[in-house]
Amino acid sequence: MLQLSYRPLLLELRHPFRIATGMRTHTNAVLTEISMEGLTGFGEAAMPPYYGENHDTAAAFLEKAASLLAGFRFRRIDAAFIAETMATIDALAPGNNAAKASIDIALHDLWGKTENKPLWKLLEVSQKNMPPTSFTLGIDTPEVLREKMAEAADFSMLKIKLGSDDDRQIIRTVRELSNKPIFADANQGWKNREAALDLVYWLQEQDVVLVEQPFHKDDLESAAWLSERSPLPVIADESFQRLSDLNRIAGCFQGVNIKLMKCTGLSEGIRAAHAARGYGLQLMVGCMTETSCGISAAAALAPLCDYADIDGCWLIGNNPFAAPMLENGRILLSGCAGVGAV
Ligand code: MG
Repeated sequence: MLQLSYRPLLLELRHPFRIATGMRTHTNAVLTEISMEGLTGFGEAAMPPYYGENHDTAAAFLEKAASLLAGFRFRRIDAAFIAETMATIDALAPGNNAAKASIDIALHDLWGKTENKPLWKLLEVSQKNMPPTSFTLGIDTPEVLREKMAEAADFSMLKIKLGSDDDRQIIRTVRELSNKPIFADANQGWKNREAALDLVYWLQEQDVVLVEQPFHKDDLESAAWLSERSPLPVIADESFQRLSDLNRIAGCFQGVNIKLMKCTGLSEGIRAAHAARGYGLQLMVGCMTETSCGISAAAALAPLCDYADIDGCWLIGNNPFAAPMLENGRILLSGCAGVGAV
């Protein structure tokens, strides 16, 4: 029998977070626990408002999942068991992707704990393939950007949110403060193809290494137009939620940003990573503002990816877990059993 419990958590952002589509100071999250025979796996749902989940929707979904899991006869937990369980969980209701991810992460944590091994070892990934992770700076005034830059000291890459009218000025301000390579994320904020292409050429000169989600998520024609001409890889974020989206968007971008909270967790995330490679796509692993629980789970996916933007736990002020260790701007995979959030 698997016993599921959960509690809501309001993640406090260290700075008000401004992107092209809005501003916020908190993120709704839920911590999910799944227990079996004295061991407990931890999972997390992080629910930014634009994906439509909140504490109430998560609670309603997790109640259903709890009844289902309580009826499970005990079996050895392994990747196949988790994949099978997640397929059943997924079929309970559409959407609820972050709530589903919290179950998937808790099951992976529990798998590691029952085997007394770190999850990344069970997934057979290696620290030597870990890409450096970027540190995200929201749209802000030069004064605030200066302050945030100090918080990015341990990171070797920056992620800058663009998509406002003064994108060049934001990059110039950052460049006065730092020469670290930059991931530029327009968050659907660009409206004009030609202007976007001009900007991308200029961004390349500023040592920007990729551009994320230039146009509205449904404007795949513009994404394809830019991808064809862009000197930098164009990565799908909002246009790519789940594995089932790949077929539709693969020809329109050079890469996809996989986030556990969008794709219902590691089971599907790993499958999406392999499927995306099959389309010749580059891979980024991303995150929401999350605790170290979600971030540590994402870190186990990161060695399969070219780029990592998994800094969410450093952007909140009330992380209930210790932050992962960093080495040369890379998250150090933990030696603890399970996901590694302690
Ligand atoms: Mg993004």
